[in-house]
Amino acid sequence: MVRQYNLLLPRQVVFGWGRRAELPELAAAPCRRVFLVRGSRTLDALGLIDEIAGGLRTSGVEVVDLTTVSREPLVEDVDDVQAQLLSHRVSPEDGVIAVGGGAAIDLGKAAAALATNQHGDSVQDFLEGVGRGFTLKQHPLPFIAVPTTAGTGSEATKNAVISSTDPQFKKSLRSDWMMPQTVVIDPELTVSAPPTVTAHSGMDALTQLIESYVSCRAQPVTRALCIEGLQAGLPAVEEAYRNGNSRPAREAMAHAAFLSGVALANSGLGIAHGVAAALGVHCNAPHGLACAVMLPVALKLNRSWITHDLARLARLTLQLEIASDEEAARCFIERIEQICRHVGIPDRLSEIGATAGQIPDIVRSSHGNSRRGNPREISDDELAQVLEESL
Ligand SMILES: [Zn+2]
Repeated sequence: MVRQYNLLLPRQVVFGWGRRAELPELAAAPCRRVFLVRGSRTLDALGLIDEIAGGLRTSGVEVVDLTTVSREPLVEDVDDVQAQLLSHRVSPEDGVIAVGGGAAIDLGKAAAALATNQHGDSVQDFLEGVGRGFTLKQHPLPFIAVPTTAGTGSEATKNAVISSTDPQFKKSLRSDWMMPQTVVIDPELTVSAPPTVTAHSGMDALTQLIESYVSCRAQPVTRALCIEGLQAGLPAVEEAYRNGNSRPAREAMAHAAFLSGVALANSGLGIAHGVAAALGVHCNAPHGLACAVMLPVALKLNRSWITHDLARLARLTLQLEIASDEEAARCFIERIEQICRHVGIPDRLSEIGATAGQIPDIVRSSHGNSRRGNPREISDDELAQVLEESL
C-alpha cells in the first residue's frame, strides 16, 4: 500500500555546468523588468553577477539592482527591500531574481511575495509564531533562484527564513505560492566558494537529506530523492572542500543540495535543524555549521528509533555490506562523524560559541517548524541534558 502524499516543486529546474547562460531567455519569457538581489560578494568581485545582469539587459530585460546581501536577512532588511520595490511601482510584468546563497534566495523570495502583498506594516506581520497571522492574498511576482552555494536547498523550498535581533528570533515567511517559479543551478557558480563555506553548506545539505529521510513525515518520493542526494553528496563533500575546482564534486554537491531542498520542503526536518536555528539566534552560529555540529548528536539521540533507516542508508549510500542493522547504523553515524572531522567541523557546541548559561534559551528556541519531522518526541529536559553533554 502506498500512503497518500503531496509534492510541491519549482515549476522549472535548469541544472548543469555553465547553464546560467540560459537565464536571460528564461527570465524574458515572464518578465519585462527584473529586480536583482545579489548575494555573493566573491562572485560580484569576479564580475560574474555583472555578467549575468548584462546578459539580461542584452535580451531586453530591464534590471533594477535591489540590494547586496551580506548576512542572513533580518526583518529590517526585508522591510527595506519592500520599500525599494514600492518606490519602483511594481507591475505584473516584473520579476525577482536572486543570485547568491540561501540568505539571498530567502530575501528574494520574501521580496517577490511582499511586492504583491502590501497589507502588512512589516514582514513580521506575516512570520510564523511571532507575527499577526497575516497570510499572502496575492501570488508573488515570478521568482527565479540562482544558487551560488550548494547547501541550503532554499531554491526548492516555499519559505524564507527571517531573523530579528530584538526580540531575538528566526522565523519563516511561508506559503505554497513562494516556491520559486524557475531555478537555474549552475554548479560552476559554486567554484569560488571558499572551503569553509563549502564545508558548512555541504554539511547543511547532507543534514537535510538525512533528517528528511528519517522524518516522521517522510514519504516515498522524498525518501527516494534523499537516497539519490546522499549517493551524490556523501562521497563528494570532502573533495569539494579540499579541491574547490573539482567539477564532479561541485556538480554532485549542487545536485545533492537541490534534492535536499525538495525533500525538506515536502517532509520536514528534525532536531538538528531545530537546535541549529536556536544556535543561530543565541550564538550567531552560521546555519550550516550549527547543523553539522548537531547532526551526529541528533543521530545518536534518535538512533534506537531509526536503526533500520540508518542501516538502509549505510547499505544504499555507503555500499556497506553489513547484515546487522545495529552494526550498519553504527557505521553510518561513524562515517558522518569522520566526514565532519575531515571538513573541519568541531565536535563540541562550545567551539561554536554555546555556553552552559544559554542552554535554557537554546532549548526554548528550538521548538520551531523545522523540528516537527523528528522521528520521536524529545522532552526539554532530555534535550537540555544532551546539549550540556555536547558542550
Ligand atoms: Zn538547513
